[in-house]
Amino acid sequence: MPDTPGESGQQTTESTSSSGAGPLTIYFHWCKACGICISFCPNQVFTSDRDGKPVISYPDKCTQCAICWLHCPDMAIVSNEK
Ligand code: SF4
Ligand code: SF4
Repeated sequence: MPDTPGESGQQTTESTSSSGAGPLTIYFHWCKACGICISFCPNQVFTSDRDGKPVISYPDKCTQCAICWLHCPDMAIVSNEK
């Protein structure tokens, strides 16, 4: 029997705020846990998980200032609103 998976729809591992639709999408498979976004966010939107990766703990504080996604060396952060 041929084992041809065919178009195996590319799966994207992503995470938005744990509270559902959020201001940002963080692509954790790109994130290397450098902590820049957590440190640079002027509004303390992020906390870090135990691996040092950002968690969008306070999405309501995000002003879409762009600092996090402009400084992320791995371009792992994308705005959901811009
Ligand atoms: S866009 Fe600005 S306010 Fe929003 S999480 Fe990123 S650094 Fe913080
Ligand atoms: S700046 Fe980018 S790579 Fe660094 S912790 Fe944040 S999301 Fe991850």
